[in-house]
Amino acid sequence: MNRWLNLGKWAHAYLLAGPETGGQEAAADHFAAGILCEHDEQRPCGQCASCRRLAHGNHPGFVRVRPEGSHVKLEQVQRLQQRFYLRAAEGQHRVCVVHGADRMTPEAANAFLKFLEDPVPGVVGILTANRLEGVLPTVRSRCQTVLFSHAGPDILREYWIRRGTGEEKARLFAYLNVAPEDEGNGGAAGPESASDADRPSRCVRFAEIAEWVVEWVQAVEGRQGNPMLDLLIRVGREKWSETECEWLLDVLACWYRDVLYTSLGLSDEVVFVDHRRELSSQAAHHASITAVTGKLQDVIAAKRRLQVHANPQLALECMALRLQGE
Ligand SMILES: [Zn+2]
Repeated sequence: MNRWLNLGKWAHAYLLAGPETGGQEAAADHFAAGILCEHDEQRPCGQCASCRRLAHGNHPGFVRVRPEGSHVKLEQVQRLQQRFYLRAAEGQHRVCVVHGADRMTPEAANAFLKFLEDPVPGVVGILTANRLEGVLPTVRSRCQTVLFSHAGPDILREYWIRRGTGEEKARLFAYLNVAPEDEGNGGAAGPESASDADRPSRCVRFAEIAEWVVEWVQAVEGRQGNPMLDLLIRVGREKWSETECEWLLDVLACWYRDVLYTSLGLSDEVVFVDHRRELSSQAAHHASITAVTGKLQDVIAAKRRLQVHANPQLALECMALRLQGE
């Protein structure tokens, strides 16, 4: 896309499609700014009058449309068209960014199609979508499509923070690749509503497991209570699924990785930022770095056993015994 910006020539419409954390919305903004920028090189420059107006949200040649409720509606597309049928001054570009091209009502999609079939000179449309298959094929065929792939951990972490998730949980989600689609239905379910009819979403369940694992590992490392019994009650009586057992191991491996990082003086890199004190005390408590890597290996070995369909409970019990050094 930067190549197009440098060439200074644009198609009438672009479709940027990818998962919610694919970065296509930010790319749409960047591209729009680049088209409207008054500089000849390094567009967008961020300095010119156009770039500044855009940053302040009052650029006359820029319109953004987002789904109202769950859909982009016909009236929204009509308003867009009315605005752009007024001719711009010679050589001036205008841009409309439409988010949710896969969430247009059929009427809105057909109206937008007319806009693509009979483009107004100087107007560039930039559409974004999460699901390419949700975009009307006739719309798709009139756009230059750019596909965005899955986000890296930094973008995932930023996504979860924007969603109001705390820093530590956002880091954990990003590290273990918990994606927005894991929010699923029932994401708003409270702790009382975990009945079959209203099961918590994957990410809510993942967070519950993570919280429990962090408590549990304190008991293991601090030799408090009876961690083995706790494990039996949780996993055995609650009949955790294989996936849930794997999540447990993933969180646990992440914990011991953090202990290792703390031992190595890499505290800035840890995932469990709210537990730095516990990590430091465990790092100090282990005789050597080898002792910590040994525990990490025990967790990884248990995960491998699960992957070859060993009895999950047995695999977890063996691991717990080794972690406790018995
Ligand atoms: Zn500029």
